[in-house]
Amino acid sequence: MNKTIGIFGGGQLGRMMAQAALPLNIQCTFFETETDCPAAILGSVFSSKNEHALQDFIASADVFSLEFENTPVADVDVLTQTKTLHPPRLALATAQNRLAEKSLFDELNIPVAPYRAVDSLDSLKQAVVELGLPIVLKTVTGGYDGKGQFVLRTEDQIDTAWAELGPAKSLIAESFVKFSREVSIIAVRGQNGDVRTWALAENHHHHGILSHSIVPAPNSTDLQPIAQDYITRLLNHLNYVGVLTLELFVTEQGLYANEMACRVHNSGHWSIEGAICSQFENHIRAVAGLPLGSTEVVRPTVMINIIGQHPKSEDVLALNGAHLHLYNKSERTGRKLGHITLMPNNSDDLTDLCRQLAQVLPVPLALTADMNI
Ligand code: AMP
Repeated sequence: MNKTIGIFGGGQLGRMMAQAALPLNIQCTFFETETDCPAAILGSVFSSKNEHALQDFIASADVFSLEFENTPVADVDVLTQTKTLHPPRLALATAQNRLAEKSLFDELNIPVAPYRAVDSLDSLKQAVVELGLPIVLKTVTGGYDGKGQFVLRTEDQIDTAWAELGPAKSLIAESFVKFSREVSIIAVRGQNGDVRTWALAENHHHHGILSHSIVPAPNSTDLQPIAQDYITRLLNHLNYVGVLTLELFVTEQGLYANEMACRVHNSGHWSIEGAICSQFENHIRAVAGLPLGSTEVVRPTVMINIIGQHPKSEDVLALNGAHLHLYNKSERTGRKLGHITLMPNNSDDLTDLCRQLAQVLPVPLALTADMNI
């Protein structure tokens, strides 16, 4: 009998997980605040607003996973009294705390920018002395997409930075990394310990939100085995099952880890068309205890997020080879509404496709001129 997988969260990641589960005849259920969430069309949603929803959700599935990185650990503790969650609780709790995460990277000899814990104005001043400027000050918990951060460039900004982030009580000060680009590595680990890794994605952000990813990341042949080694150390140490993402900075000194996400990731959406087995399908396979599929790249791929406003579907689909994924979300500034996958034949083809795409997207496309593949 095929399993039912219960997923914490019912956004677009849950929607795409459930889409990948369908051909395997695996059902998904979701635990989410709003019952009209993007995943709702694919399975029952248990609204976290209702009193007994967590117990009903736990009863609704055989094995559990998550797509929401701030899934409360307290809910997981209730769940794991009777059922299993993949990824493991330790991975989730570590990823939710930037200090714990950085110290795990240290422990596993994965390079990170020098950092200090900050819990008072004095300790912030001390961190500035020890690390030098500039530094990036971040809340230890709860930040995402650049929120809960302050880049401190001069000493006279110390009071302002403390006034802005100090109320969070627990902060981390990190040396500012002079990176040339940001990349991410995504890997999956099965219940038998089998590990598969996808090609590095080069990620470009606009106003702190992922704008597009290019895969394989250009000029990344030397970086791929190093990134693969880092993520494999994490997966094995955590006895992890499912998909894990590691975000990295490329610097002159090599790769520095920024953060990990215990889930499928926006920079892996390319894999639906661009890899033999997508991050979503392999995650489902791992959680269900099935053999993993090949992560090999079928063709170089560019994934572009649709942010804030929808383009006309017919305009996007008229582009040669374009795939469109819409998440059934209403428009709002800065909101991820869908994504487009382009699979160009070469860099000339890509430049042409991007130019055409830029004309049909209502929100300007922050594509760089040098998207060589
Ligand atoms: P995060 O929330 O940690 O992913 O940070 C959001 C973005 O801020 C990253 O994608 C980087 O562009 C930038 N950033 C974060 N940490 C640093 C750092 N230590 N040095 C330079 N830039 C950073």
